[in-house]
Amino acid sequence: MRTLTLTDVTMTYPGRTKVRAVRGVSLSVSEGETVAIVGESGSGKSSTARVVAGLQKATSGSVEWTGQAASTSHPMGITTGVAAPGVPRVQMVFQHPDQSLDPMWQVKKSLAEPLVRLGVRSKDTIRQLSTTLLERVGLPAEFLDRHPRELSGGQAQRVAIARALIASPHIVVLDEPTASLDQTVRSRLLVTLGELQAETGVGYLMISHDMSSVRRLASRVLVMYRGRVVEEGRTEEVLATPIHPYTQALIDAVPPIDPRVAWHPKVWLAAADTPDDVSDPQCPAGSSCDEHRPGLNEVATGHWVACTTREAP
Ligand code: ADP
Ligand code: MG
Repeated sequence: MRTLTLTDVTMTYPGRTKVRAVRGVSLSVSEGETVAIVGESGSGKSSTARVVAGLQKATSGSVEWTGQAASTSHPMGITTGVAAPGVPRVQMVFQHPDQSLDPMWQVKKSLAEPLVRLGVRSKDTIRQLSTTLLERVGLPAEFLDRHPRELSGGQAQRVAIARALIASPHIVVLDEPTASLDQTVRSRLLVTLGELQAETGVGYLMISHDMSSVRRLASRVLVMYRGRVVEEGRTEEVLATPIHPYTQALIDAVPPIDPRVAWHPKVWLAAADTPDDVSDPQCPAGSSCDEHRPGLNEVATGHWVACTTREAP
């Protein structure tokens, strides 16, 4: 089993404003496991995801891929992998399928592209894998000839997932993959993601603000606030006994009744780019963090909290 590890990663967007979106984040995702990141809009979840996916370079800190492959065979039957050893294949699925799929391309072209990039030349192999992947995500082969506009939101997201998985990635980053889908479609998609993971051994880094999705899929959860991880641990434990006041506020925030409405709970004031010395007016623990933001402390085995005023129950 191999693990992708971020250690003390910071990422500042270049340009005049220099937004410090990620401020000292450490996390790991192993093959076969699901780790979730939760937090309100602007807390730095997508920026962290982009570093994990290699779409954005860390400003400081390290990103490492270590461990031994469990087996050399590729679950989707690809044996022509040309990726350098030591470099993980990471794919990303975005909130809206049109961020993952080119609207001008038929589904078959979107599915073929990651394989072609990997060096797969055989048209038969590409056709066969595309059909297999479509079937795995619950869509018939006829969909190969469709364009994204001829698909429902849920179907398009299934195609995006098939595309992410077709070239046997080690890790797939799912950035709010079900946020624009209604409850039934969302629920079925989560089942499909779970099945695909069991079958392929892929690791997921899932970003979500839907606690029920997190509960269903992720074994561990990280809570981000203002570019930092403020709490992390086993999902059950963090959701049942959240210790950081921010985690408590996030869990108590009520999602909109219409599940198609994207939920961005502004539970506290500050976005990731707020300077460190600005306090959190809504924090019930007071403003003791202004001068010095506490680091993560282990309050129970594997349960880490960055708040000095709270203790484990
Ligand atoms: P989240 O996914 O949790 O909503 P993001 O990672 O998208 O948060 O954003 C974190 C911070 O970085 C925010 O302040 C946001 O405005 C800023 N940001 C995001 N993308 C860019 C970008 N391309 N250039 C500059 N700032 C950005
Ligand atoms: Mg985001």
